[in-house]
Amino acid sequence: MAGVAAIESAPEHRMSVAYDDVLRWIRKFAAEVEANKESLTQLDAAIGDGDHGINMQRGMSAVVAKLDAQAGDQDVGALLKTVGMTLVSTVGGAGGPLYGTLFLQMGTAASGKGELSPDDWAGALEAGIAGVENRGKAEPGDKTMIDALVPGRDALKAALGGGATFADALRQSAAAAEQGMRDTVPLVARKGRASYLGERSAGHQDPGATSSHLLLEAAAETWGESE
Ligand code: ADP
Ligand code: MG
Repeated sequence: MAGVAAIESAPEHRMSVAYDDVLRWIRKFAAEVEANKESLTQLDAAIGDGDHGINMQRGMSAVVAKLDAQAGDQDVGALLKTVGMTLVSTVGGAGGPLYGTLFLQMGTAASGKGELSPDDWAGALEAGIAGVENRGKAEPGDKTMIDALVPGRDALKAALGGGATFADALRQSAAAAEQGMRDTVPLVARKGRASYLGERSAGHQDPGATSSHLLLEAAAETWGESE
């Protein structure tokens, strides 16, 4: 029965992320948004209304203030829902409701969990993206945050399915999101404000895809070392 033993022991090297690790990821994303506020705003100035960096920075600093003020109850799902609700209530425009939905749906998927296994993380990301797709109706290639999130999700699932460690799967997820972000440059926007520009939206990187890459990169950097 060596085969059975091997199958049973296979997941052992795949560590879960604890509640505090999820908290560190949220704080890392907030710090990355803060550090990239100007560049996100410049990207949005080129094809939108120049507020994406400001919007995300306002939202994530409200999230950090909220998390600082409340004692966590160790429920990852509740934590992610708090992030989502805070974003919805503090960020206007398209970005606030879309990022709010992403975190709310992740929170629903992770409801009651004290930690996330690699598959839990893949499931939460999948549910969050489905929420964004439902709400915004964007498809891959429409030049939105979906163009970073979907490749990031697919690479994560493919890597986990192929037996990669969680750290490697997270790195592949972030790398795919980065490529997806870069691939938005030549696209013509079909959703959001940038779509008003039509063909003139081509030649610019999408701001929402850029912030979504930061989100998955923050996960890889925060959790990749915990292995
Ligand atoms: P607004 O466009 O209202 O000013 P932001 O500047 O905060 O909001 O966010 C713009 C980003 O939102 C875009 O770069 C794009 O990635 C994303 N976005 C816009 N509309 C949609 C949509 N329908 N679905 C998914 N993402 C979208
Ligand atoms: Mg904008």
